[in-house]
Amino acid sequence: MDDEGEHMRRYSRFVWGMYYLRTRFPTMSVTSWGRSPAHNKTLPGSVPDSLHLEWCAADVVYDPGTQPELGTLQAAARQVGIKVRREKDHDHLEQAGDFPSLEVDHV
Ligand SMILES: [Zn+2]
Repeated sequence: MDDEGEHMRRYSRFVWGMYYLRTRFPTMSVTSWGRSPAHNKTLPGSVPDSLHLEWCAADVVYDPGTQPELGTLQAAARQVGIKVRREKDHDHLEQAGDFPSLEVDHV
């Protein structure tokens, strides 16, 4: 297995997916992306196996009054292999599928 190539493919898909979503939801901003393990530990509600540690998760917020309906966002994100979880003050977006194995490519 070409481990480096697989990581690059996975990571590139995530970044491309985020780019796609910012074109669909242009009022979106990223507030948290990759994290060091030490930084991750300091955050309330963070988990030790967070995909933020793999730089395959991002937290986003929206310009006031423009937060998309969750189902609409989830459907758009699913098209590019990203899962969405709505938190109190942000949406958590992460690469779908287990790391590092890739799902069957359906994008
Ligand atoms: Zn998050």
